[in-house]
Amino acid sequence: MVGRHDQTTDPELLAALLQARRGTAFFARKLNELSDAELDGDSLLPGWTRRHITAHIGYNARAIARLVEWAATGVETPMYPSTAVRDHEIDFGATLSPIALRHLFDHSAVHLNVEWRDLPEDAWHHKVRTIQGREVAATETVWMRTREVWMHAVDLDNGATFRDIPVPVLERLLKDITGAWKARGTDEDLVVKVTDCDLTLGDPTSASPTVVSGPLAAVVEWVAGRGNGGVTAVVPRVDAVEGFVDAVPPAPKWI
Ligand code: ZN
Repeated sequence: MVGRHDQTTDPELLAALLQARRGTAFFARKLNELSDAELDGDSLLPGWTRRHITAHIGYNARAIARLVEWAATGVETPMYPSTAVRDHEIDFGATLSPIALRHLFDHSAVHLNVEWRDLPEDAWHHKVRTIQGREVAATETVWMRTREVWMHAVDLDNGATFRDIPVPVLERLLKDITGAWKARGTDEDLVVKVTDCDLTLGDPTSASPTVVSGPLAAVVEWVAGRGNGGVTAVVPRVDAVEGFVDAVPPAPKWI
């Protein structure tokens, strides 16, 4: 039976769903503040207009809904047939009329939310596969969506900043991204220090690391490759003066 409430009663999962729904509402607000003409403007992502961001977020909801349907039915329905198809879909979506783009965002978000709401408790643990080939439980789809809506709301370049993103989302982003560096071995001699929550990540074995530090929101902005406004760096050099502040290097790639 289809209900108006989530089928799951798991408090952790319900909290995660709330974070995704808040992020969706936040993205919707930033999108709705933009006029149709402003949709043509650049986003913070190189080569992408705000139209591309909106199309990507809409198709992303559909792709994630396919994973939730997979978990519900046991019938394999991948996110996308391939990354080429995904990219083509975004390019196509960016050409839609403003009203069609806004509908795409709204309808896909509602559809995904219904899929989540009606997924039975036990089906949340069924395994599905992401576009990167990762086998994950359906519960992971909530985080997959959460990070997209919050980060891309900032990418709309319409006044949202990383400081608008809830702390638990920032912390998980930081863990995800530095974890991806570690898996790729790209964090060698790099240490990341979060000054407002006493957190140190990166390469703990380095004798002379580059240390990038700042408050949580600024550090996540930097690790995500979105700018270095609020962080400082100390780069080791033979002739370095203790505490000398250097130019901030670009963060290693994570996707
Ligand atoms: Zn994305």
